[in-house]
Amino acid sequence: MAETPPFAHVAIIGLGLIGSSIARAVRAAMPEVQLSGYDANAESRATARTLGLADRLAESGAEAVIDADLVIFCVPVGAMGVAAAELRPGLKPSALISDVGSSKANVLAELNAALPDHVIVPAHPVAGTERSGPEAGFASLFQNRWCILTPPDTAAPHHVDQLTRFWQALGANVEIMDPQHHDLVLAVTSHLPHLIAYTIVGTASDLESVTRSEVIKYSAGGFRDFTRIAASDPIMWRDVFLSNKEAVLEMLQRFSEDLTALQRAIRWGDGDALFDLFSRTRAIRRSIIEEGQDDARPDFGRSGS
Ligand code: NAP
Repeated sequence: MAETPPFAHVAIIGLGLIGSSIARAVRAAMPEVQLSGYDANAESRATARTLGLADRLAESGAEAVIDADLVIFCVPVGAMGVAAAELRPGLKPSALISDVGSSKANVLAELNAALPDHVIVPAHPVAGTERSGPEAGFASLFQNRWCILTPPDTAAPHHVDQLTRFWQALGANVEIMDPQHHDLVLAVTSHLPHLIAYTIVGTASDLESVTRSEVIKYSAGGFRDFTRIAASDPIMWRDVFLSNKEAVLEMLQRFSEDLTALQRAIRWGDGDALFDLFSRTRAIRRSIIEEGQDDARPDFGRSGS
């Protein structure tokens, strides 16, 4: 017999890539769940309606959350506090509050300030693409990806368990983490790589000695892989860096020191240092593939085979 869904009615606030993917995944995995949604962007609301993403598409956050047992904020991290304050009047006292923000300590503080009387269990599905908006989402986005929950000490175990079961039903593997630790881990695995990609693509476009058409023509040499990351949503990423400031600055400091060491190795012709590092990094790539977190095919399977 199929398991009863952990929540009977789920409200999704923000119907972009992540919000619309959750809606699609809920429909696919738990069709009996009532879905309601709201997006501040009128165009996204209209698209969500055309796509049939929810049973009820509301014209305000407060209307969307009426009767909801779980409310998930899928808006940029800088908009979490405002979005939460907007919908407070419609919220059931027993509704569990969660989010999908890419930084956690700051978002928890914002949600707590806006909804002090509610139980909040923040979450971060470590899954995404460089695209945004309701049309970019897909139901299998969370399959075999990690979703990190960062419950505060005040959250009861049964709330954490309910949200764990929700994400597992969407195909994710769930891990529990302290919010500060989450922010440090994600600073190095996600935020710093984005910052580096934004820098390289920005540097290449500012060069005078190499033309823009040459950069594009010869991009298969590595550059184009950075451009995919650097095409990510500017609002989302602006907010991530401002919200996870301390952890990103700490990791950036470490990165700058390591980059200086590499600079020195190149200057002094220290091939052994370069070879040692490049061998270690190759092993990390192998581990990621072994754990099923990327495609082992050459060129990330891009050639379409
Ligand atoms: P997205 O595609 O840009 O969607 C966000 C939507 O929220 C937009 O339609 C936006 O409207 C709307 N919005 C903004 N403020 C709002 C408010 N106060 N009330 C209701 N709706 C509001 O972004 P996304 O990629 O889904 O990201 C959403 C969240 O997921 C972010 O916190 C991000 O850090 C996190 N996340 C993203 C990824 C990823 O790879 N993209 C992965 C994991 C987690 P406008 O268009 O008018 O701004």
